[in-house]
Amino acid sequence: MNDSSGKSEALYARRVKIHAREVEGFFENLRTAAVIVLLGLYYLVPWIPWDDRQAVLFDLPGRKFHIFALTLWPQDFVFLAWLLIMAALLLFFATAIAGRVWCGYACPQTVWTQTFVWIERLTEGNFNQRIKLDKAPWSTGKWLRRGTKHVLWVLFAAWTGFTFVGYFTPIRELGDGLLGFSLGGWETFWICFYGFATWGNAGMLREQVCIYMCPYARFQGVMFDRDTLIVSYDPARGEPRGGRARGPGPGELGLGDCVDCRMCVQACPTGIDIRKGLQYECITCAACIDACDSVMDRFGYPRGLIRYTTQNAVQGKAQHLVRPRVVVYGTLLLVLAAAFLASLAWRAPVRLDVLRDRNALYRELADGQIENVYPLKILNKDGERRHVRITVDGLPGARVRTAPATIELAPNSLLDVVTRVSVSRDQAPPGRSDVTFRVEAENGHTVHAEREARFMGPLD
Ligand code: SF4
Ligand code: SF4
Repeated sequence: MNDSSGKSEALYARRVKIHAREVEGFFENLRTAAVIVLLGLYYLVPWIPWDDRQAVLFDLPGRKFHIFALTLWPQDFVFLAWLLIMAALLLFFATAIAGRVWCGYACPQTVWTQTFVWIERLTEGNFNQRIKLDKAPWSTGKWLRRGTKHVLWVLFAAWTGFTFVGYFTPIRELGDGLLGFSLGGWETFWICFYGFATWGNAGMLREQVCIYMCPYARFQGVMFDRDTLIVSYDPARGEPRGGRARGPGPGELGLGDCVDCRMCVQACPTGIDIRKGLQYECITCAACIDACDSVMDRFGYPRGLIRYTTQNAVQGKAQHLVRPRVVVYGTLLLVLAAAFLASLAWRAPVRLDVLRDRNALYRELADGQIENVYPLKILNKDGERRHVRITVDGLPGARVRTAPATIELAPNSLLDVVTRVSVSRDQAPPGRSDVTFRVEAENGHTVHAEREARFMGPLD
């Protein structure tokens, strides 16, 4: 492609591999704590037992999702949709206030990349040693270091894939299958697929996922305003930048506080220079803040040349925490969360579905009764064992027979029963009439669920 000056420019720029310089400081500690907590939860949660099952298990064949004491059935999928909407709103709310805090500290891409980088440091050394190793010709030492890194990466990625599948298949059974070489085809496929995706994204692609693949990076700009928290360089304090020896103050040298050491650039996992201003590649990880603060300490300058701040604050303008978008996102989030919790608390513990016998509208029994047959599905949604009976309203003189008369509903179970409703011929209403089925507690005091249905009788 030719630019305006007629020079030819390549549409494809080869990736320059980024080795982020290791830093120490408050935000590095915060990021490390976030990685330990989040990955700790990811790897440990599937191993937590709950009664006679796994505490968190998305049981696709059984069509139920267990989340500790809560069990969600396909009928409850509205709750999952609700949860996703709340998660999206929470992200909007957090972004409006604190910018890309999710990207910098909690996004799976960031968290796993951080872990893969730790393994890389362990096997290939620090920032300078890794760059040197990249440039060095292939030797036994280089093969050994690279090989060890990849072996550890693959093992960690495989464990990640195994854990992921352990959220859908009981993880202890999965472990037994793995040790006994008897894993199913789909389980093997998903462990390999998820493991490969982890290795590829966190080990090989890294910052490219954030820059080129993540849609959030592209649209988060619309959630920003001039009062959103960002990581920013303070040009008023830093410029004119310039190298110097320790000792004389910047005022004596006619320089700003930036010593132009490029430590902030070397520490950046996306390879940008934050001194050029806010850029969409910045994931707000604050590594450059830690890097610059340590330089400021060495030179005896105040910290905070690069800091968390807002565009208004950098320009000396008034800042506003409460803005229309923050109020709108916050209010929506609160209302949705309150409604979600209330709906969950008042969720009917039993659900009843009434089908109809498709083979006959009705049948006439030997004793002259008109009978309709109804297959019922009774879903006990919680962990309480119940003893219930079926009653029918709206058909005077009706005889209701379910075998057995008292039905035991096991915790978190779906039961099929057949109920026969009959009425004498002279009491049977002609044609179609509406009836109500009820699932009542054994003592008849509590109605757990009810459902409308039709009773069919002879027309004459
Ligand atoms: S510029 Fe700073 S905060 Fe932004 S990604 Fe780079 S190191 Fe992280
Ligand atoms: S680390 Fe600080 S002093 Fe060094 S180049 Fe970056 S902004 Fe300037």
